Amino acid sequence: MNTDDLEEMAGLIHFRAGAWQDLGYENPPTPESATIPPLGERSANAIKAGHEAVKDIDQLIARLHQVRAQLVSELRQDSDIRAVRVDAMLAERRAAVACPDHRPVHDSELGWYCAACGSDAPPDA
Ligand SMILES: [Zn+2]
Repeated sequence: MNTDDLEEMAGLIHFRAGAWQDLGYENPPTPESATIPPLGERSANAIKAGHEAVKDIDQLIARLHQVRAQLVSELRQDSDIRAVRVDAMLAERRAAVACPDHRPVHDSELGWYCAACGSDAPPDA
């Protein structure tokens, strides 16, 4: 999954939102710095940039929905694959124990231990 485009899209929105404000400052750092023109007095370029920013935002929202859907799907698949692997591992472990007197004792730190065969396999279900 490649999400490199998200940063680029967000950067473009940031730039165009700035252009909508005619690249002026809300709090000008110096007296020479441009201020944001009031609504109703913005340039044609600012208005164009504002409309483009709205379109870009719609595209980013659509793209975020795609990324979200893919993440949810991959997380679900990952979980399913892990569950199958754990089930197989547990079945394998149970099958591998051919202990005639398998009565493992559980220790909260060491886990299961069978004195008869020395294995850490849990008791047969
Ligand atoms: Zn045993």
